[in-house]
Amino acid sequence: MEDVSQDINDVWSYLTTSYHPSSRLLSLSESRGLQVTDLAFARLLDQVNPVRHLREEFHYPSIKDLDVNDCDSDAKCIYLCGNSLGLQPKETRSLVNEELEKWERKGVVAHVQAKTRPWISIESTVKDEMAKIVGAEPVEVSVMNSLSVNLHVGMVAFYRPTQERYKVLMESKAFPSDHYAVQSQIRMHGFDAECGVITVEPRENEETLRTEDIVAAIEKHGESVALVLFSGVQYYTGQFFDIETITEAAHLKGCNVGFDLAHAVGNVPLKLHEWGVDFACWCSYKYLNAGPGGIGGFFVHKNHALDFGIPRMEGWWGHDLETRFKMSNERQLLPGANGFCCSNPPVLQMVSFLASLNVFNKTTMEELRATSIILTGYLELLLQHYFLKGQVDINHPSLEVITPSDVKQRGAQLSLRFSVPVCEVHNELTQKGVVVDMREPNALRVAPAPSYNSFEDVHMFVMLLQESFQKILKQDAQ
Ligand SMILES: *Cc1c(COP(=O)(O)O)cnc(C)c1O
Repeated sequence: MEDVSQDINDVWSYLTTSYHPSSRLLSLSESRGLQVTDLAFARLLDQVNPVRHLREEFHYPSIKDLDVNDCDSDAKCIYLCGNSLGLQPKETRSLVNEELEKWERKGVVAHVQAKTRPWISIESTVKDEMAKIVGAEPVEVSVMNSLSVNLHVGMVAFYRPTQERYKVLMESKAFPSDHYAVQSQIRMHGFDAECGVITVEPRENEETLRTEDIVAAIEKHGESVALVLFSGVQYYTGQFFDIETITEAAHLKGCNVGFDLAHAVGNVPLKLHEWGVDFACWCSYKYLNAGPGGIGGFFVHKNHALDFGIPRMEGWWGHDLETRFKMSNERQLLPGANGFCCSNPPVLQMVSFLASLNVFNKTTMEELRATSIILTGYLELLLQHYFLKGQVDINHPSLEVITPSDVKQRGAQLSLRFSVPVCEVHNELTQKGVVVDMREPNALRVAPAPSYNSFEDVHMFVMLLQESFQKILKQDAQ
């Protein structure tokens, strides 16, 4: 066993300096005279987590408010669903109310005359922090529209098919909205949607894609591919793709490359500028906590910032502010991502997002990621302890983690598959006040968010999963 310092301040650096947290979590617990499964160990980890205080910045739902059982205590639920809808920052309400008040008291005047955040430049209040989170320069980022719309904006610009090169290369299991968007774009250009899509599939008996297979597909089909379109983190399996390698391979073959970062943004550190991605889009309601239907984000690489010949759906908000209100009908687009804006932005959505970005501004993606790796590694370790694969009986219920065990290839989420029907597991957990996401055909997606989930949440979740499982197996045995 490695020597673990007794100094509490050293515990975190001991955990974060290893590549995979499992072995260090085990030796740490041992050195403290604890089992890795002890609640006391979860509490120790919470005590040393440097971003633990961020949880105070969020409203954390209680079980009784979920209306899932007769519980009337104030006990908090176990919320591990930040990959679907992030929790509400406490500042959101006041920021939204301030804008409602401006509207109430000033009406249209607040567009330009307001002590704080005049609406005309409301996007500038979120831009810098947004750019930081995706590893971009401010000129490369625009906060606008919503995700699927921005996917179209990106494809209008970067899917420019010719007779020889008209295909889109993507993963076979991409989110349905992405498939629909791609197919409709292909049809709009007069090509056959079925022939126009090349999909990359996992190997037989594998759940996730190998980077080498993605690169091989690009090399094989590249000459006929106009656009390589991938997700950053796969919504179903939780796999974090190697964006840099995919981008490089695509460019070598002369293809444009875009990424849907719905599950990556605010989850894993991104370097869109450095990686040379042509365009990217994302939503703000998952790990970015901007609220349901939150405003979307859009990235265009600086290399394209001054190329006003790139096709786009133009509107007045993509125009230079200096001349925007001269109403002259003379085209004068803004450089970079803002040149792809169409409409004036929804102010209430913008400040709802600002509340969340103010929380991100108290930390860094690197710090959040360090916590995330340990939090998710701890979840994985507990699951391994209680649910050994392949021994299906009451004492050894079976479960499989389909997310890669390589921490570089995953974010916060682990996707679980069970030996019993997933909807039964989900029902049991829901009854017990656990909020996790079930996805057809058979996955439970569990995502501890480092900004508001604790190690104790993860511990509780695994205990309740155990109980749920036992109950189902007993029912089945009867
Ligand atoms: C969440 C998600 C969407 C949702 O799209 P909206 O336009 O925000 O409704 C689309 N694609 C992916 C990959 C997602 O994860």
